[in-house]
Amino acid sequence: MSAWLDTLNGIEALEVVEFDAALVAGFEERFGRLPGDAARIINFYVPTFKAYATSEIAGCGKSAWPAVSITGPECKLQCDHCKAKLLEPMIPATTPEALWRVVNEQVAAGAQGMLLTGGSNHRDEVEYGPFFPAIRRIKDAFPAFRIAMHTALVTRDQARRIADAGVDAAMLDIIGAQDTVTQVYHLRRPVADFEASLAHLTETSLKVVPHIVIGLHYGRLLGEWNALEMIRRHRPAAVVLVVIMPFYAPEKRPFAVPSGREVGRFFMDARETLPDIPVLLGCARPPGRAKVEIDAYAVMAGLNGIAHPSDGTVALAARLGRSVRVTPTCCSIALGDEVLALDDGAGAIQVGVDEYLRRDAAARRAQSLAATRLGRIPVVTA
Ligand code: SF4
Repeated sequence: MSAWLDTLNGIEALEVVEFDAALVAGFEERFGRLPGDAARIINFYVPTFKAYATSEIAGCGKSAWPAVSITGPECKLQCDHCKAKLLEPMIPATTPEALWRVVNEQVAAGAQGMLLTGGSNHRDEVEYGPFFPAIRRIKDAFPAFRIAMHTALVTRDQARRIADAGVDAAMLDIIGAQDTVTQVYHLRRPVADFEASLAHLTETSLKVVPHIVIGLHYGRLLGEWNALEMIRRHRPAAVVLVVIMPFYAPEKRPFAVPSGREVGRFFMDARETLPDIPVLLGCARPPGRAKVEIDAYAVMAGLNGIAHPSDGTVALAARLGRSVRVTPTCCSIALGDEVLALDDGAGAIQVGVDEYLRRDAAARRAQSLAATRLGRIPVVTA
């Protein structure tokens, strides 16, 4: 048995997963061959302990890092995995004046920054043009207020205007398979346009953070490796990997859930392809046992950041000898903060790993006690 499998078997919270022994042994060997030290450091973005203990995870980050849509819930593309549903819970700001007002309200309520996004037109462009003066005004009035923008596809001129407006981080999904662009996104543009957009953005001073959605082709991995190659050629600040969560897929175009092992293999490939670029696992991934498995493979593959880790993940990283940092922040914050923290993470609030594991165990004990008590309450049905 490999040493890593032994370690996995020794962590109670990971018992729900049956790990592939050969895959784990392969990871151990490949990890040992990685050049440099980049894969040895891992940052976990966890909800605050208070929120953790009281199950307020979903709402806890909203006021600190709100998501704002310049089109409200409208999107022309209607991609098969989303159907514009991702935009619905966001704060609408459909005019430059509304954006200025929303940001002022959010700053007064304690926001540190925002994710600025919107629905796309038929060319997968978010039409930020009229908003640039308002964004500049926001950054001039509130220089510490961070703006992470989902740019979608851009021209060289648009990339320059985004940077000139003072946006801190630019994010876009990179798709590497033409069939996925055509079928899932309903978009008549070549894959090369995704790489060109990435090139335009990385030519500016923006911190550029491409995302790869694993399993975007109806749950299958198809263009992910090509997306990695495209990203490798342009050296962005970091890469965020997420796993498809097709809650809104139409019945006639269902999505499969990619297996944890498949996702894990891709993590390792991503690590090897981008050995010196931070590779982070974002919040979006399937819940439950699949998440436990995915998170464990993310640690074993040497990813540098995991938003909202499952139970047992931090302990695994510590036992595998990683240099572990735990930053108490919410999942929704992690969208932008995990990226912006790459520079100023040293100043972020941090807790020691032992302290984290101790508090985490105490919180779980309290939760299971509460569940036991609830279990004694008779359920009354009509
Ligand atoms: S372009 Fe973005 S918001 Fe619009 S449907 Fe596709 S994923 Fe959703």
